[in-house]
Amino acid sequence: MYEDAFPRELREYYRRLFGREAEEIMASLRTPVEKYYIRVNTLKTSRDKLMRILRREGLKPKRSPYLKEGIYFEREGPNFPDDYEPGLKRVVANKFASESVYQGAMLYAPGVLKADRSIKPGEEVEIRDPRGLLVGIGIARMGGRGMITATRGVAVEVTIPKFKLPSLSELESFKEGLFYAQSLPSMVVTHVLEPSEEELIIDMAAAPGGKTSHIAQLMQNRGEIIAIDKSKNRLKKMEEELKRLGVKNMKLIRMDARKLPELGLQADKILLDVPCTALGIRPKLWESRTPKDIGATARYQRAFIWAAIKSLRRDGVLVYSTCTLSYEENEANVKYMLEKGLKPEEQSIFVGSHGIGMDDVQRFYPNRQLTQGFFIAKLRKV
Ligand code: SAM
Repeated sequence: MYEDAFPRELREYYRRLFGREAEEIMASLRTPVEKYYIRVNTLKTSRDKLMRILRREGLKPKRSPYLKEGIYFEREGPNFPDDYEPGLKRVVANKFASESVYQGAMLYAPGVLKADRSIKPGEEVEIRDPRGLLVGIGIARMGGRGMITATRGVAVEVTIPKFKLPSLSELESFKEGLFYAQSLPSMVVTHVLEPSEEELIIDMAAAPGGKTSHIAQLMQNRGEIIAIDKSKNRLKKMEEELKRLGVKNMKLIRMDARKLPELGLQADKILLDVPCTALGIRPKLWESRTPKDIGATARYQRAFIWAAIKSLRRDGVLVYSTCTLSYEENEANVKYMLEKGLKPEEQSIFVGSHGIGMDDVQRFYPNRQLTQGFFIAKLRKV
C-alpha cells in the first residue's frame, strides 16, 4: 500500500541506502509519529505545572524520559484498516487538508477539492485524499455544493480519523505560551548546541523559531541570539511565536544566510538547521521528491555550510541538522565540512542511532526511534 506513496526512483534509492530496512522506513513515514511531543516553555512554567494544566484541559500528557522539558501524547489509531471501504458519499480534500484530517483535524471548506453534490448537512461522508486514500469519516456540516464554494467554516466534522493526535492550538495553555509543539529530535538539537549566555549565537535558518526559542529558553532569555531567515512570511509567524512564548533576547534579520559573512560576525556557535528535502517528515500521504532533488538540495546546503564556517570564530561550534533521510544532505555534507577543516565533536545527548559510516553524528529513524526522520552533527572549527 505504502509503495504507491513513493516515486520508484526514491524507493530504489532507499533500498540501496537502507537495505531491507527501507520497507519498514517507508511504512513508518506513511503514519503520524507514535509519540507527539511538545516542549514546556520553562520561561513561563514548569513541566509539573503544565502536566497538571493539560490534564485539567482533558489530555493525557506523559513525561519524556530523555528531556526534562519534553512532554508527549500517545497517538491513537489506526482507527480502520487500509482496505476499509465505508461506501459513503465522497468528499475529496487537497493534500494539505487530507494530511490534517488523517491526524484527527476537522475538514475546513477551503481544503475541499470535490464533493458529491447530493450530500446534505448532517449526512455521514467519507473523506479521501486526491489519490483516493481514505483519511477519515465524518458528518457533513455543509451541503455538497456549499463545501466546494465556501471560503471558510467546517465542511465536515471528522468523527473517525485514520489516526488521532491531540489538537492543541485552541487550548488556553497554548495561547498563554506555556508550550511549543516540537518533535523530540528538534529539541535534542538545541541541547547538542549547549548554548550559554556569554556566547554570540547565530541561527542561520531560524523561522518559525522552534529551535531559536528553545535556545532562548536554555539561556533564560539572557545573552543575544541572531536569528536569520529569508522568508518574510515565516519571519512574521516567528515574531508572533516569540511574543506568545515571551522570548526577548532575539535579533531577527531577514536575509539570504549564504551571505552571512558580509555581516562580518565571528560567532561562538552557529546553528544551521538547513533547508532540506524534508524526507523524514511524517505523515506522508505521498512523496513527490526524487533523488534528483536530493543532489540539488545537498549542493544548495553547501553554500550555507561555507557561509557558516566563514562566520564562526576559531574554536567555535557548528551544529548542523536536517529533517531528511538522504545520505548526500547528511553524512556527505559532514564529510565536506571535515574537508574544510572542521572536526567532529561528541554530542552531549545521544538519543538517535549512529550515522551511516560515521559514529559522531546522530540519525533518527522513523521505524527505530519512532520519531520524524532527522539528522544532527556537531563540529568544531579548529
Ligand atoms: N529552524 C527552524 C525551526 O526550528 O523552527 C526551521 C527552519 S526550516 C528547516 C529552514 C528555513 O530556511 C525556512 O524557514 C526557510 O525560509 C529558510 N531558508 C531557505 N533558504 C534560505 C536562505 N537562502 N537564507 C536564509 N533562510 C533560508
